[in-house]
Amino acid sequence: MKHVRLNITTHVYEEVPVDELTRFKNELAKAAGAIVPPADAKKLGICVFCGPKELKFRDELSVREYSITAMCQECQDKVFQ
Ligand SMILES: [Zn+2]
Repeated sequence: MKHVRLNITTHVYEEVPVDELTRFKNELAKAAGAIVPPADAKKLGICVFCGPKELKFRDELSVREYSITAMCQECQDKVFQ
């Protein structure tokens, strides 16, 4: 019984802030036209807007951008031009 309660507390502590943030990010991405949530795109190694394609990045900054937004180089160029 004690063990179950501890698990629930841990679950709430870990899940709520992450879920809120993730939901917010997904809402933003969806509003911008994303076909999948950024977290899923990163997991699959695809672009959040174009879907499956070969991902090539110009520099370290673009790679870092992908790790946040899951946008390929072309989409980053479109968004940040
Ligand atoms: Zn793209």
